[in-house]
Amino acid sequence: MKKILTITVAVGIFLMCSCTRNTEDVREIFAMDTYMTVKCYGENSKKANDEAEEMIKLLDSILNVESDGSDIYALNENGGGTVGEEVSPMIEKALVIASQTDGAFDISIRPLVKLWGFPEGVLHIPTDEELEEVLPLIDSSKIKLNGSEITLGEGQSVDLGGIAKGYAADTVADIYRDNGVVSGIISLGGNVLTIGSKPDGSAWKVGISVPDKDGAGTDYFAVLSLRGQCVITSGGYERYLTGDDGQIYHHILDPKTGYPSKSGLKSVSIVSTDCTLADALSTAVFVMGYDRAVEFWREYDGVAFDMVLVEDAGDIFITEGIKDVFSSEESFTVIEK
Ligand code: ADP
Ligand code: MG
Repeated sequence: MKKILTITVAVGIFLMCSCTRNTEDVREIFAMDTYMTVKCYGENSKKANDEAEEMIKLLDSILNVESDGSDIYALNENGGGTVGEEVSPMIEKALVIASQTDGAFDISIRPLVKLWGFPEGVLHIPTDEELEEVLPLIDSSKIKLNGSEITLGEGQSVDLGGIAKGYAADTVADIYRDNGVVSGIISLGGNVLTIGSKPDGSAWKVGISVPDKDGAGTDYFAVLSLRGQCVITSGGYERYLTGDDGQIYHHILDPKTGYPSKSGLKSVSIVSTDCTLADALSTAVFVMGYDRAVEFWREYDGVAFDMVLVEDAGDIFITEGIKDVFSSEESFTVIEK
């Protein structure tokens, strides 16, 4: 009797596994100027990914700051307006994070991004006069949000590039949840969200890129074992413009100086269950630098997050919440609360 039961259970597990495996659905999508992969398992996997793909494309078309016809383009042109239900929660969260990070993350960064020539890909090193004119515009406390009505301050414009992929990841997670998907992994331009565990019950393994332009996306210096968390990385090596003298000007700008941030960090990864927060914080912490970031992490009382910090000289630091799920052949230091 015991033997029959054992065989029945074994066959059941085998069928469950093969059935789960059969219902994998994977999509490659190009959106938000990057390659994305969404992969999930379960009987609703195809439907869930149909909805996820549609949502990512919708968010891309709404948020694309360069595209005449997007909600954000119109918002910037008109100094305000009504935005859809997809956009207002993101802006609301962005405004809160700006105030929490003392403006290290600020969506009103757009005039500065433009001044440096990032949209056209043609470097312009601003003069002091130009910076003096533009810096006062980078202050999202001047943005008023009332439900879906937004009013920008005089001369302001917004860029959601520092938060959009994290928000898109949270939206896909909601779609998966609504479809009963309990296992999946999505990668939005190297920013990864894990849903539950792998179909075999083990943790998802997510690599963190070596922070230099040749290593990005191919070489990894560490692996995180995650279940239901995301890891979002910001680094100066990801997008940049090069001056005539070969100097690199990267795309994460310090709203206080107006220059590409030089905080002593070359890569910041944030681990959290909240991808919108993690995306905004990866940008903010990159601007803050080690000391401010650690103080911020110790005092933050919102949704929990952890950090992997790589300093310019290559030293690696992680916060204690991920010490059991972080592995690396490099040496690293654990920061305690
Ligand atoms: P990526 O989008 O390449 O993964 P980030 O999430 O760090 O990297 O976002 C960087 C983008 O955010 C920039 O390309 C720019 O559009 C915008 N940005 C740059 N500096 C800031 C800042 N201090 N606060 C908010 N957004 C920023
Ligand atoms: Mg970011």
